[in-house]
Amino acid sequence: LAGNAEEPAQGRLAHEAFPHWRQLGLDADCLAVVQARSPRERELELTHDGARRWFKVFIGPLLDGCVVRLTDVTAIKDKEQVLHDNARRLQADNEQLRQLAWRDGLTGLLNRRALDVILEREVARSLRLSEPLALVMCDIDHFKAFNDFYGHLIGDDCLREVGQVLSGVIQRATDMVARYGGEEFTLVLPNTVLNGGLDLVQRIQHALHERGLPDATSPEGKLLTLSFGVAEFDPRRDASAHAFLERADSALYRAKHQGRNRVGLAYPQGIQVLESQLSPAG
Ligand code: GH3
Ligand code: MG
Ligand code: MG
Repeated sequence: LAGNAEEPAQGRLAHEAFPHWRQLGLDADCLAVVQARSPRERELELTHDGARRWFKVFIGPLLDGCVVRLTDVTAIKDKEQVLHDNARRLQADNEQLRQLAWRDGLTGLLNRRALDVILEREVARSLRLSEPLALVMCDIDHFKAFNDFYGHLIGDDCLREVGQVLSGVIQRATDMVARYGGEEFTLVLPNTVLNGGLDLVQRIQHALHERGLPDATSPEGKLLTLSFGVAEFDPRRDASAHAFLERADSALYRAKHQGRNRVGLAYPQGIQVLESQLSPAG
């Protein structure tokens, strides 16, 4: 590092004996150590022979001057960097794994596992803050017949499209859409009352109608339809997140039972089923 090792350094000025001295900028440090009579230490980076090297610099008081010790710590720094890079990569991998574990592979929506966790959390929040919480269950009508007619690949495309319609309709950052399983989807709507849930369902019906997904097997018309169940969390009636889900599911079941392409609303006094305002034939 000092260059010509043949020439004795003794008796020469530091910046003459040591070509990097100015670049290291150690004069100010030396002066400070001499004045304060206390040592200091720092790390610095130096480009030597085209390679970047790291040095630990120790400057200590010695009589009325000071001693400067440079230790090449490049190897240690490189190892630290590798460790740091590995940690970063591991973190990124974990994040990706977490995403995969929470997402449904077909639609990219949250999966059942995520829904269970989110619903527990939102029920607890609703209780704590006394804020309303609505839940919408959606189920594609006669999807078995659709699959039998068009085949499973087109069936999968259809599930993706329905997933897009649902995600496209939600507006608040806190609203969540999950694929509950098979051809069933669930929307968790924090800070939303039952009628807010119904509003959203009507927007879904419109968006679906606009998209006009064909279903030649539909007994009612030529377009794919969904049935819905909507419930608002009620601590007096829902002993758990699961019970809340069951109540929305009962409302969905009633909508199915009364002919499909309908919305079941779980009012405290009982379930009311509304027909869709839109003609399924387009
Ligand atoms: P309903 O109107 O009562 O809901 O009738 P349905 O036929 O939709 O309901 P059912 O539960 O009898 O059948 C659901 C069908 O959904 C069964 C299967 O063919 C289809 N399905 C479930 N998961 C998938 C999937 O991942 N991909 C495809 N292509 N089809 C699926
Ligand atoms: Mg179903
Ligand atoms: Mg179905």
